[in-house]
Amino acid sequence: MSYQEIIDEVYHDVKDIDDKGKLATYIPELARVSPQKFGIHISTVSRHQHGIGDYEERFSIQSISKVLALTLAYKIKKQDIWKRVGIEPSGTAFNSLVQLEADKGIPRNPFINAGAMVIADILVTHLKNPKKDFIAFVRGLAHNSRVDYNQRVAASEKSVGYRNVALCNFIKSFDNIDNNPATVLDFYFDLCSIEMSCQELSEAFLFLAHDGRTLNGTQILTNAQTKRINALMQTCGFYDESGEFAFKVGLPGKSGVGGGIIAVHPDKYTIAVWSPRLNAKDNSYKRVRVLEKFTVKTETSIF
Ligand code: GLU
Repeated sequence: MSYQEIIDEVYHDVKDIDDKGKLATYIPELARVSPQKFGIHISTVSRHQHGIGDYEERFSIQSISKVLALTLAYKIKKQDIWKRVGIEPSGTAFNSLVQLEADKGIPRNPFINAGAMVIADILVTHLKNPKKDFIAFVRGLAHNSRVDYNQRVAASEKSVGYRNVALCNFIKSFDNIDNNPATVLDFYFDLCSIEMSCQELSEAFLFLAHDGRTLNGTQILTNAQTKRINALMQTCGFYDESGEFAFKVGLPGKSGVGGGIIAVHPDKYTIAVWSPRLNAKDNSYKRVRVLEKFTVKTETSIF
């Protein structure tokens, strides 16, 4: 069976499953999305593309952008980055404050909010115009100049982002934020507000399936750096369910509270799924189910 036939089959198997998950209403603007949205898109390193459902519609990628922010910061700072952020799964919620106290302001990994704020701080320090330069980087990866921040979503999150404000100030108190926390937070909320479709996401992440190079040959990361980002996505990419995701799906990846998920098969493909209903751990039943069925049918888990 071809990838297109398999994603068609998986889409129809999963589409009408009774999904009791809930939208991420803690960001008011995300509560306006239709919970029925459902799309899948795969891009392969052999240059094939297949999509089904709402795969061309843009949605809020939220924490998925943390991988792209890490990529750019890693490219700039190389291994020095690991002095300021850890590489271990957190075992706590993505926006937890408690662990930071014990860890003296060094976030467990770059994919929890605290870690992504340290990465945002690095980018604020090193980019001339952080918002402009970062979106240019993402547009280049997605081959699409219309990918953008959604200012309504960013403003909506800012209006209620008390916990993130607390996290950033708390890290600053340990001297692990160099810039003004308000500047870092402003950039962080914008990063989370980026909108992309499943198609654009799977294209943008292809370099992680291709030893750090885009299909046009542009070197984004070295082979070793790419291996490390994939390893971090495997162990820390799915909130407090990274173990379960490895168990069921067996691909590195990252999910976001906007309902998106990206998974990478090194040397083969990237696959993005969008389904906005989230379970209690902020993943979504449908997204995981799609990827589980897909890797079983294609026999392409990395394990
Ligand atoms: N902007 C969201 C937050 O900071 C991102 C959460 C996510 O997608 O994991 O709460």
